[in-house]
Parts: sequence; C-alpha cells; structure tokens
Amino acid sequence: MNWLKTHKSDVLLIAALLVLGGGLTLFLLATRQAGGTVRVQIDGETVMELPLDQDVRTVLGEGEHTNTLVIENGAAQVVAADCPDQVCVNHGAIQYAGESIVCLPHRLVVTVDGGASNDVDAAVK
Ligand SMILES: [Zn+2]
Repeated sequence: MNWLKTHKSDVLLIAALLVLGGGLTLFLLATRQAGGTVRVQIDGETVMELPLDQDVRTVLGEGEHTNTLVIENGAAQVVAADCPDQVCVNHGAIQYAGESIVCLPHRLVVTVDGGASNDVDAAVK
C-alpha cells in the first residue's frame, strides 16, 4: 500500500492546479476591459448596435413601450422608460462585456458586446 505516496502527489497536483487557476483568474481580471458595442435586442431580435465610445441618446421601441437609452462616457444606461416595474431604469449603467440591462415588460435586452480591440461591424443586416 503506498497510499501515502499517491496522496502526496495528489496534493501536489491540486496545489499546481490552484496556482494555475489563480493565475488564470488574475489574467482574466487584468484583461477585463471596456466593451466595444452596445447591442439592443427587442423580442430576441437585434435591432441596433451602437459603439460605446460615442455619446448618444436614443428612444427604443414605439407607442407606449419605449425605453430611452443613453450612452455616455463609455457606459450605457436606460434613463427613462414607461414600463411598470422600472427595473431597467433602476439598473444603472453598464460598460463591461457581457453586462446587460433587461426590461422584461418590453422584452428589451441591452448588452455590452466584445472587447475594445474587436473589429466592430456596426451594420446589422
Ligand atoms: Zn423596464
């Protein structure tokens, strides 16, 4: 029985994995950067893509289902909406890749896409 020996090498392996994992986490944190574009989806369809580095104010939706989206200083935010819950308005600004604002009543999703170095194809369809 050389259980102890095996156990020892397992510990070493786990330690190595931990160090590796820690390094990876640090790497991911260090490379986390401002996203490139803001993608607007309504009903699951992408209706608009806007660069994060250009300040803009736009009204999304129509009739009694509108959300006012503002991009300012590299961050996107829904500043006004006529939905009943106002969750999207209260969400605050988003700026990192993967972050999103959801307005359930309006089936609206605003997501930050890509990294700063990505080539942005602004044309949808
Ligand atoms: Zn809303």
